[in-house]
Amino acid sequence: MRSLISLILAFTTLVVVDGALYAQQQAAPQTARPQTAPPATPKPQDTELWEPVPKVVTPGAECKAPPSDAIILFDGNNLDEWVSAKDKSPAKWIVTDGVLTVNKAVGNIETKRAFRNYQLHIEWKIPANITGSGQARGNSGVFLASTAPDAGYELQVLDSYNNQTYVNGMAGSIYKQSIPLVNPSHKPGEWQSYDVVWTAPIFNADGSLRTPAYVTVFFNGVLVENHFELKGETRYIGQASYKKYDTAPILLQAHGDPSEPISFRNIWVRELN
Ligand code: MG
Repeated sequence: MRSLISLILAFTTLVVVDGALYAQQQAAPQTARPQTAPPATPKPQDTELWEPVPKVVTPGAECKAPPSDAIILFDGNNLDEWVSAKDKSPAKWIVTDGVLTVNKAVGNIETKRAFRNYQLHIEWKIPANITGSGQARGNSGVFLASTAPDAGYELQVLDSYNNQTYVNGMAGSIYKQSIPLVNPSHKPGEWQSYDVVWTAPIFNADGSLRTPAYVTVFFNGVLVENHFELKGETRYIGQASYKKYDTAPILLQAHGDPSEPISFRNIWVRELN
């Protein structure tokens, strides 16, 4: 009986205390309400920004044509903007009829200029008579930042029209890191394009990573990489990792596989720093 009475008393206390708290909570808004004037009625103008005014840039006649503020890296005439990645000597790939073709004998070439953040347009073509399969069928690459003679961040170039390989190594992939969202490849023999937005990684003074690299890629006008966060520099074997750099050239890969060489044309870049 005693325990029953105790239980009833405890329950009654709980109800009373809880009720008091509830009453306080109900009363609180009246005592805590700020004595300020009601906000003015929002106007459309409150959310309008009028500066800074974006500078005027004349677009190209077609989307693939360079806009007025682009740096022309290859317009079909010469390789003045390019050097050998190995020894910085003049680039010795083949320029014929406005087209740049890989010369496997001399290896990779890279831009003389170094870049941080940019927008890049580049067109490439797998030869119509391509042979081989997998990674040995039209392999090249655009290293979005060439951080050493054989290191950097590779956007893969490959015949992926009808060519099975690992999907994080097909055209439109960040090699061994990302699978393109779709496969918009044209047939070998047809020109294809990449439009890239590259956001370079930022490093702390001690070399540790502050913010990773991001890339957005349109492949033949179709989104295949959507602000993809990179894991680091491309690795053929092993996991990607970052290494501190500030600015870096853009590199074109002479892969050296036995298939016919790849061609490029109409290469331009807009710095976004
Ligand atoms: Mg490659």
